[in-house]
Amino acid sequence: MPEFAQHVLESLRQPLEDGRVSIARAGGVGHFPARFQLVGAANPCRRGCPSLDRCVCTPAERARYLGRLSRPLLDRIDLHVEMPAVAHADLQLPAGEPSRAVRARVVAARERQRERFRTGRTNAEMSPRLVRRACGLDALAARLLAAAMTRLGLSARAHDRVLKVARTIADLEGAAAIRAEHVAEAVQHRGLDRPWRP
Ligand SMILES: [Zn+2]
Repeated sequence: MPEFAQHVLESLRQPLEDGRVSIARAGGVGHFPARFQLVGAANPCRRGCPSLDRCVCTPAERARYLGRLSRPLLDRIDLHVEMPAVAHADLQLPAGEPSRAVRARVVAARERQRERFRTGRTNAEMSPRLVRRACGLDALAARLLAAAMTRLGLSARAHDRVLKVARTIADLEGAAAIRAEHVAEAVQHRGLDRPWRP
């Protein structure tokens, strides 16, 4: 993603937020549907070091590169997952959980969302009002989220996105209520909100 020009990256903000693209020309404004799932990848730095932990670039070099992913853009991306280079020993490990089992969990989580909203809406599509209704937290989970907000300097937009992800993690587990561990995992998936390590 950081190989794209900044204005190209920023132009993703509107469709990611509203699910549509508005194009203004002399003759008027046209609105076009643009609901999509964004999957993007970035190296930790321009040199393409194997991981942030093993990056030999200076903090300034790293900030120039990953810094092209602006805060408002990152706010609109639910999951930031760091994928370090695979060690040789890890290639010998037995295969993980089969896709069939994962699929069954996803289908069950979708079914829970269908029952919750009765409109075909998914957790990702919750309005702020629905987030308040469907993502209630107990005291421990609320304290954890408040602490993460302060520590990572999350915006209100990112706050709601963390809640939606936490709701989905709880749904994948079949849990009726969002617990602190679901919030913790959702916060864990906001890796690029943390300052990239010097
Ligand atoms: Zn590097």
